[in-house]
Amino acid sequence: QAGMITRPVRERSIETIAAMVENGIRKSGFEEVGLLSLSSADHTEIGEIAKGLADRYEGSNVSLSLPSTRVDAFNITLANEFSRNGRRSGLTFAPEGGSERMRKVINKMVSEEDLIRTVAAAYSHGWRQVKLYFMVGLPTETDEDVLQVADLAKKVIAKGREVTGQNDIRCTVSIGGFVPKPHTPFQWAAQLDHETTDRRLKKLRDVVREDKRYGRAIGFRYHDGKPGIVEGLLSRGDRRVGAIIEQVWRDGGRFDGWSEHFSYDRWMTAASLALAGTGIDVDWYTTRERDYDEVLPWDHLDSGLDKDWLWGDWEDALAVADGSSDVEIEDCRWTPCYDCGVCPEMNTEIQIGPTGHTLLPLAVV
Ligand code: SF4
Repeated sequence: QAGMITRPVRERSIETIAAMVENGIRKSGFEEVGLLSLSSADHTEIGEIAKGLADRYEGSNVSLSLPSTRVDAFNITLANEFSRNGRRSGLTFAPEGGSERMRKVINKMVSEEDLIRTVAAAYSHGWRQVKLYFMVGLPTETDEDVLQVADLAKKVIAKGREVTGQNDIRCTVSIGGFVPKPHTPFQWAAQLDHETTDRRLKKLRDVVREDKRYGRAIGFRYHDGKPGIVEGLLSRGDRRVGAIIEQVWRDGGRFDGWSEHFSYDRWMTAASLALAGTGIDVDWYTTRERDYDEVLPWDHLDSGLDKDWLWGDWEDALAVADGSSDVEIEDCRWTPCYDCGVCPEMNTEIQIGPTGHTLLPLAVV
C-alpha cells in the first residue's frame, strides 16, 4: 500500500538525510539510527550515504542500520558499511513469496538464484545470521507455495555452511499474514481465513522442525491468523465498522495491538452485535473477493491512482497466477511511465539523483 499511495518516488538529498540524522541524534539523545524509508537501498546515492554516515559516526556510540534490504549482493556492501560501528546482528531480506509463482503474482522479481547468491555473499562477509521475511495468505496461494519457504531456508543454510565451512550458520524465517489494503491492486482480493492461515503455518513449521540436517539452524517466527482478520476488518471496513470499534471499547478492549490484551472473541462478539440486521458479517469484509462494479468504501478518497489501472494490475496478477500471462511491471523510475495516473493527477513527478554530492566530515566541537 505504501508503494502505491506515496507515488511517485521522490528522493531526499544526501545533505538532507545527513542533517536529519544529525538533528535526530542531538535532539533525541538516542544513539541508534535506522534508515527506515520504504526502500532505502534503492536510493540512487545509498552507497555514498552509507559511507558518508559511517565515516561521520565512526568511533562514536552511534549505530547505523538498514533494516531490510532488497535481495541484492550490493546490499551486503551497504550492510558492511552500516555495521562498521556496531554488532553484526542479522541481515534481513524480504523475498515475501515462498515460491517463484507467488513472487511473480506480487511482482517481486527475485529468483531463487538471486537469493542464494546474496546470502552466500552475506555469510562469506562474516554475517552469521540471515533473516528472511515472507507473507502467507497471498492471493491464489496454496499449501505448496508456503512449503517452499522451507526449501528456500534449507538451501540458504546449505549455502552458508558451504561458503564458510562452518556449521554455526543461522537463518530465521519470519512470516506475516497478508492483509489486502485499499488503494492497491489487491483491494478486491479475498483475505485468507485464519483457520487456513494457521494450518499452513503449522504445516510449514512441522516440515522445518522434522528436518534432521537443517531444522535446528532454522528459526521460525510467526503470529496466528486471528489478529490478521481484525486488521483486515479495520483495513477494508466501511463506516459500519465504527460501531464495532465502539462496541469493542465498551466491552473493555484496550491496547489490542499487544497480544496479551488482544481478544479475538471480543471483536467477533462486538461485530455480531453491531452488524445485527445489516445482513453482513466479518467474512463479508475480509474473506470475500470483490467485483469490479462494487463501490468501495474508500473510492471517494483520491490517492491519484487510476482505479482502472489498479483493476488491470489485479487482473494481471491473477493471469500470472494461473500461468496464462508473464507480465512483470518494472519500476517506473527506470522504465517509461506506465500511466498509473498519479503524476498527472497530483501534478508531481519522479525526483531522483544521482546529484553527485558527498558528505563532508562533521566539524568536531
Ligand atoms: S504516472 Fe507514470 S511516472 Fe508517475 S508514478 Fe505512475 S507510472 Fe510512475
